[in-house]
Amino acid sequence: MRNRCVVASLMCAAFLPAVVAAATDPPQAASSEVRELGPGLHLYGGGDVNTIVWTGADGTALVGGWGDDAIAAARQVSQAPIRYVVATHWHPAASAGDAGPAAGATLIAQDALRTLMAAPHRDAETGQLVSAAARGALPVITFDDTLMIHLNGSQLDVLHVADARGPGDVVAWWPAQNVAHVGDLYDPAGFPFVDLARGGTLAGIVAALETVLSRADDATVIVPGHGPVADRAGLGDYRGMLVAVGRRVAELVGQGLTLEEVLAAEPAGEYERRYGGGRVAADRFVRLVYGDLTRRR
Ligand SMILES: [Zn+2]
Repeated sequence: MRNRCVVASLMCAAFLPAVVAAATDPPQAASSEVRELGPGLHLYGGGDVNTIVWTGADGTALVGGWGDDAIAAARQVSQAPIRYVVATHWHPAASAGDAGPAAGATLIAQDALRTLMAAPHRDAETGQLVSAAARGALPVITFDDTLMIHLNGSQLDVLHVADARGPGDVVAWWPAQNVAHVGDLYDPAGFPFVDLARGGTLAGIVAALETVLSRADDATVIVPGHGPVADRAGLGDYRGMLVAVGRRVAELVGQGLTLEEVLAAEPAGEYERRYGGGRVAADRFVRLVYGDLTRRR
C-alpha cells in the first residue's frame, strides 16, 4: 500500500505542477546538480539514480531514472515535452516505477524489466517487497537485444547486457556524443550487486564491461547508475578488480574451502579501500561471487 501512496504523491507533486510550469514559467537556470555532458546531453546526478536528459528540437528523453526529481531536472534544461524514458536498470524506489513516466512520455525498457515490474517481487538487493506496477506505469515499448532511438539529430544505442547484474539491464550509448550510461554494471565507489536468483553472474558483468571497453576511448564519458562520472580507465580498473576477485574466489573454492573460510581469506581485501564505500560491501560481494561460482560447478 505504501507504493500506492507514493503513486498518488508523485502524481500530485511532480506531474501537475510540471505541466502548469511549462505553460507559465520561463526556463530556470540549471542547478549544480545538472551538468552538460555533450551536445544535447545533461546529467542529473542529484537523485537516487543518475539520469541523462537528452534534449533538442524533437523533444526530451530521460535515460536512467524517471522520478519527480529527474523530471524537475529535465524541466531546468528544457521545457520541451518529455517524449521517452529509457530505463537502464531497476530500483523500485529510485526509478519511480510505480508512478509511471511523466505524462505523455513513453517508457522503454528491456523485456525482462517489464516482466519483473508487472508482478509482485522481492527486490534482490534490498530484500524489499515490491508490488506490481500499475498498468499505466509499465513500459510500453520493450525490446530483446538492441534498440536504437533517433532523436534530436543524433542516435542512442540501447544494448541489453544479459546474465550480468540483474534482469533487463542495458547500456545506453550515444556514439556521436561519446557518452555511455552503464547503470549498475559499474559503481565507482562500491562492489557490484549480482542478482543470482534472476540469472545474474559475475562473468556476465565482466563481459558487459568488456563490451563497453571495446567501444570506448579515452574521451568517453562513462555515467554509472550512481555516483560520479567516470572514464574508460576507471571502468577498466573495475573490470580488473572483478576478474581478480573472481579468480581468487575460484581458487579457494577449488581448494575445497567453505564460504566462511573464503570470507576469512579476504579475497577482495586489497580493493576495500577503493570500493568499500558503496552499497555492496566486500564481504557481501564475496558471498555473491562464492554463490555464483559454487552454483555453476
Ligand atoms: Zn542502481
